[in-house]
Amino acid sequence: MNWTVHKFGGTSLADAECFQRVADIVLTQPDENRAVVVSAVGGITDLLFRLIENSIVREPIDELLTELRERYEVIVRELLFPEESGVFLEQFEIDLSDINSVLKALFLVKSASHRSRDMVSGFGELWSSRILSALLRTRSDCDKNVLCVDARDVLVVEAGEMGPIVCWEPTQENLATIVSAEFDGVAVITGYIARDSDGLQTTLGRNGSDYSASIFGALLGANTVNIWTDVNGVMSGDPRRVPEATVIDEISYSEAMELAYFGAKVIHPQTMAPAVAHGIPIQIRGTFNPLHPGTRITAATDQRQNLIKGVSGIDGVALINLEGAGMIGVPGTADRLFGALRDANVSVMLISQGSSEHSICFAVPEDSAELVKTVVEKAFAVELSQGQIQNIDVTTECGVLAVVGDGMAGIPGVAGRFFRTLGSAGINVRAIAQGASERNISAVIDAKEMTRALRTVHASFYLSAKTVSIGLIGPGAVGSALLDQLSGEVERLRNVFNLDLRLRAVGSSQRMLLDDQFIKLDDWRSLMEAGEDMDLEQFMNHVQAEHLPHAVVIDCTAESDIADQYGKWLRRGIHVITPNKRAHSGPIEYYASLKSISHSANTHFLYEATVGAGLPVIQTLKDLVETGDEIENISGIFSGTLSYLFNVFDGTRPFSEIVREACSHGYTEPDPRDDLSGLDVARKAVILAREVGLDLELQEVYVESLVPAELIKAEVPEFLERLEDHDDSLAKRHQSAKEAGQVLRYVADLNIKTRDVGVRLQEFPVDHPFASISLTDNIVQFVTRRYCKNPLIIRGPGAGPDVTAAGIFADLLRLCSMLSANND
Ligand code: ADP
Ligand code: ASP
Ligand code: MG
Repeated sequence: MNWTVHKFGGTSLADAECFQRVADIVLTQPDENRAVVVSAVGGITDLLFRLIENSIVREPIDELLTELRERYEVIVRELLFPEESGVFLEQFEIDLSDINSVLKALFLVKSASHRSRDMVSGFGELWSSRILSALLRTRSDCDKNVLCVDARDVLVVEAGEMGPIVCWEPTQENLATIVSAEFDGVAVITGYIARDSDGLQTTLGRNGSDYSASIFGALLGANTVNIWTDVNGVMSGDPRRVPEATVIDEISYSEAMELAYFGAKVIHPQTMAPAVAHGIPIQIRGTFNPLHPGTRITAATDQRQNLIKGVSGIDGVALINLEGAGMIGVPGTADRLFGALRDANVSVMLISQGSSEHSICFAVPEDSAELVKTVVEKAFAVELSQGQIQNIDVTTECGVLAVVGDGMAGIPGVAGRFFRTLGSAGINVRAIAQGASERNISAVIDAKEMTRALRTVHASFYLSAKTVSIGLIGPGAVGSALLDQLSGEVERLRNVFNLDLRLRAVGSSQRMLLDDQFIKLDDWRSLMEAGEDMDLEQFMNHVQAEHLPHAVVIDCTAESDIADQYGKWLRRGIHVITPNKRAHSGPIEYYASLKSISHSANTHFLYEATVGAGLPVIQTLKDLVETGDEIENISGIFSGTLSYLFNVFDGTRPFSEIVREACSHGYTEPDPRDDLSGLDVARKAVILAREVGLDLELQEVYVESLVPAELIKAEVPEFLERLEDHDDSLAKRHQSAKEAGQVLRYVADLNIKTRDVGVRLQEFPVDHPFASISLTDNIVQFVTRRYCKNPLIIRGPGAGPDVTAAGIFADLLRLCSMLSANND
């Protein structure tokens, strides 16, 4: 029979309702043997310790005892039938009188041995196991055997330097006598308590039930150890201190170990060892949200996820600094120091030594600071008296802050960001240590700064959803439309796809607005006014902050100057998305170099909106090429403006009037000649030709310009006025087309085999697909080996800020899905 371990912490066993919830979880698990390891009811272990402390100092304990009795009476009365609760309470009274006897002894001797502490503090787990097993037995939906196991009858441990060590052999033998190989059902086991080799009760230390769970997992050969608690999993920070912390899907044993060691109370550091030895995955799950998958802790996780998995902090730390020229070059100083501390049973949390060996600095739990000072003074008495060691400084009220992640190994800049973040938050760092494994960086700071430090460091490493740092250049009509679209979607994208799209920089030719966190999407226009002077280098450095996994720049300008930078950006790891046609239709060498840089730097370069605005033209063409189709011809109407002009031009009004009207409505470029020259269409033709593999230059494209030669240099108003002098020829052309049952369309035509590419005004029969478009529609027709008789046609609105922005947005989401596929 397979075993699964389920451990429920005190937070999951706070009251009667919690016990019912736990029983629900236990009984709805898949049909395998369940080992249910329980902690004491929330707060009870603390209460038992308070009883001990009060007795030692001879303070009253009656109120505490009443509180203890009342909590259990309420729980069992609500939960159990009178008979079962009677049985429980009878035993409970016997236990209380045993506790009282021990406490009386402590009162007399004014001290408590660790044996007395272990004995008293371990009752909570016994009570929980009795209540839960009684409850399970009485539940009508329980058709299982329920066995109540007192871990003291099974688990034998001996004291080790780092805490209790399991004596596996006798433990395994004991277990076999209590849980037979044929057992089929639920075993409710006490967490935290064990016995030593003398047979006396001991414990696994505070929060030790997690360790119990993993020990029993190893003993039973369990397939999983589930640790059920009051949060949904291991989080990127303690949610009580870092409210924006999120659940980590997966972490490695070592990461979990580091987080636990540095104070993430959600799991006990020693829990990992038995699970690692037997390769048992640990799953941290939320009792209050049992459908949530929680956090899976296994040997290997995807290292390319976030560099940093979490931040954690421990308060109650003292920093000891030993300083003196006498330590320089003297071998064995550290050895003597830490040897003395080991002998005194002090655990050192962090060590840092300057390379000059002039000082050694280390952190210890605050409550051992006094002892440490005495021990060190004694160990270095001679050096102190001779002045070779000048000082032993003890600074209390410190804390250790740590960032943890397997992924940071070998990645430069993590420490830099960590300390810069603390520095800019004005938090003083007293000592620093980085494990040789490069799995954590830790710093000693003042305890009172801890929460602030945790929050700023957490934020600066973006330990939330998959974060993409976005810089947008050119917030004109298209750029603004994109930001408006983003503004309406970011929340949904975060919730549905776990995507955290952060606009962190917006820059125009004059000004830029940078924000370390994110720029409010509904407020960027007013914030921009308070921005600083544009500095492209600084802008890009900001977008690509070293702690962020992904950076993308969206170029919404039409500038060559900006397009000339793409190669540099792609090479340094910044993805580029753009509707700007300059790079793609400029010199072929530059275009080719961008492709090869993006390939070798593993950065993405997306430009769907360069042709047909939001229509999926480039992507379709890529798909055709990549799936092995052969493109023979591409033709179509690629300009929304020219599309509009010829859709409206029906012979009733002169062409020049239509142009003037379109210009006044903003349907054309400010200078309509930019559209009428055909150059923009020619650029798009070049982009498509190159996508198919032709190394075509813009100059090779035949372009029929609709701008009369004599008006090329005129000012815009003059051009608009004098265009009517040229109406005749177009009117004639229109008339003769009409007589032949045709219409005029400004089209691009790419014959791929012959490299014959031209953009021109052409006649089409009224039933041709190019004839039947409306408004600013674009249409692109692909004739390919597969689509030969009946070409593939893409048609729809092909101009305007909104649809262009939608094309860019689609590229951004495409980029995110590529990043997810890479899992980096
Ligand atoms: P249990 O009683 O289930 O053993 P604990 O109180 O021992 O629960 O541990 C759960 C608590 O750990 C959470 O409520 C949370 O406040 C705290 N905690 C600290 N750091 C973390 C972290 N990184 N992830 C999740 N919880 C954390
Ligand atoms: N009840 C014990 C404690 O509070 C053990 C545990 O909950 O893990 O420390
Ligand atoms: Mg715990």
